[in-house]
Amino acid sequence: MDMCNSNVELVESHLNNKQKRKFVSLGMNLEKVFCILEAKGVLKPLRPKFPKFIQKNGGYCKYHQVNGHSIRECRAFKNAIQDLID
Ligand SMILES: [Zn+2]
Repeated sequence: MDMCNSNVELVESHLNNKQKRKFVSLGMNLEKVFCILEAKGVLKPLRPKFPKFIQKNGGYCKYHQVNGHSIRECRAFKNAIQDLID
């Protein structure tokens, strides 16, 4: 690893720490949370933006309605929940 790359990583990790959002732990399965919020009409699934990038492997994200990551790993969904709480 050369100096330039390591510096970039340092800056990025610093920025990430600064901007890192603290997510409230709901103590619930995120899939369950999504079901509840969707049923209440509080949250709607996003329209899939990149249907060409759908991957066969990986979980299915009910929020993005795409394959490739599970809703448990979905930052956008966690952000949406946090927006509702804030
Ligand atoms: Zn997602």
